[in-house]
Amino acid sequence: SHHHHNKPGAPSPDSAAAADIFEQLCAASTFKSVLYHYRQLCDVLRLKPTNIRSFYPKLKSKLRSWKAQALWSKFDKRASHKCYNHGKACSNNKVLIIGAGPCGLRSAIECQLLGAKVVVVEKRDRLSRNNVLHLWPFVISDLKQLGAKKFYGKFCAGAIDHISIRQLQCILLKVALLLGVEVFESVTFEELVEPPADQEEKIGWRARLSPPDHPANQYEFDVLFGADGKRNTLHGFKRKEFRGKLAIAITANFINKRTEAEARVQEISGVAFIFNQKFFKELYAATGIDLENIVYYKDETHYFVMTAKKHSLIDKGVIINDLADTQQLLHSSNVNRSALLDYAREAADFSTNYQLPHLDFAVNHYGKPDVAMFDFTSMFAAENASRMVERKGHKLLAGLVGDTLLEPFWPTGSGCARGFLSCFDAAWMVRSLCSGKMTPLEVLAERESIYRLLAQTTPENLSKDHLSYTLDPASRYPTINVRAVLPFQVRTLFDTDDPS
Ligand code: FAD
Repeated sequence: SHHHHNKPGAPSPDSAAAADIFEQLCAASTFKSVLYHYRQLCDVLRLKPTNIRSFYPKLKSKLRSWKAQALWSKFDKRASHKCYNHGKACSNNKVLIIGAGPCGLRSAIECQLLGAKVVVVEKRDRLSRNNVLHLWPFVISDLKQLGAKKFYGKFCAGAIDHISIRQLQCILLKVALLLGVEVFESVTFEELVEPPADQEEKIGWRARLSPPDHPANQYEFDVLFGADGKRNTLHGFKRKEFRGKLAIAITANFINKRTEAEARVQEISGVAFIFNQKFFKELYAATGIDLENIVYYKDETHYFVMTAKKHSLIDKGVIINDLADTQQLLHSSNVNRSALLDYAREAADFSTNYQLPHLDFAVNHYGKPDVAMFDFTSMFAAENASRMVERKGHKLLAGLVGDTLLEPFWPTGSGCARGFLSCFDAAWMVRSLCSGKMTPLEVLAERESIYRLLAQTTPENLSKDHLSYTLDPASRYPTINVRAVLPFQVRTLFDTDDPS
């Protein structure tokens, strides 16, 4: 343990305590413990989360360990991008972000770097998702630049191109907090509250949150990001539906006991396997399981995601009655849970050549075996990525990021790459607005022009120079035309009560 002497030049008890807490914060692996150590750290250093320029330099000056310095040099490098203008680009803006999923947190980091005050509300109190996301090369580079390795030593080791959703959230949460983002757990966004009719106190836009007595109910903001995943709680955005052929995905997580036998088993990357007809025929002949594809990643868990054909789910007793409506078909009352677990385990065993010994299910958010069945027959995308509302002289810029903007098709390993791109694009929109050089309609038109590209992006058609990625869309999309949509075409996205 430590001995603290108050002789000159020695660290004060506070800074020694802070150094310890910082270590604990870096190592923490749950939502609660990360927030607990962070709040302790702020207490000891008498700091409050606020904009980057008032928070980060103070934090940095008080934490000087080798590890801390290595992290600060990463953050400093990122913060030096021209587009942030030394954390002054958006220093008059206040941002509210709904959801602390990977995309809510990633966009919080960007808004914080732009100099805005940023608050994130998350309805859950735990990060509990075992499922594993495929990472495109630029996402790996992005996370390295944010210091992911400092929080998760294994991140850059080997040829990994995947990460558990929980681990990704944990890394991004720490980065966001250390830059000064304010994150509230167990707080649900209910609805947007317009500025009051009586403008004597000039109160602007606020949110109605649960619990109703939470102080964040008083927070006034002028930028709002919906990052709440596919359920989408933010009104005012139309969604379009893409109906494909019936697609039923099953995810399964097994405990990784990290034995040598487990270490030897080969992963199955989605791209390679979709075309391997021989494998699927053999699987069907041996087990009666009929799949269109399967992906296996060895991560904190053994993670499998597969698309199963309906007839085999019925034959194997997983689906009880063949119903026309997909929602009813996959409703829990029509699914034999234990047959589903057997199905997933059999598919996992066969596709790894029975080399993963004694597979035990990992547990999900509810403490149950982590196997789930999802319907991907119909997928959603927002029609627009942005809108602006003006009431009683208060403008609010609203944007969607991540799954709520464009739902990904996980079975082919789309992961969160397009989600991250949407975070950068949304933050660029905020920067465009506060540059003062563009009208609201021009800002919205630019955002919609960029959004048109998103669904077409692939690792191949993005710029290969990942180290040069910035918020500027031209640094990421080689063929971008930021004037594809013109201001007059987005008039309906600007809703104002100002008659002029
Ligand atoms: P999410 O990760 O869904 O995060 C949204 C966050 O908002 C959540 O934390 C949620 O609790 C919170 N929230 C929602 N409503 C409110 C509200 N009203 N107020 C406050 N907070 C709110 N992708 C894959 O590629 N492979 C997979 O196997 C896979 N499995 C998944 C399993 C589940 C259960 C879910 C939900 C998603 C899965 N995904 C998977 C999708 C993947 O997680 C996302 O693409 C990625 O996390 C980026 O999503 P996001 O941040 O936009 O949204």
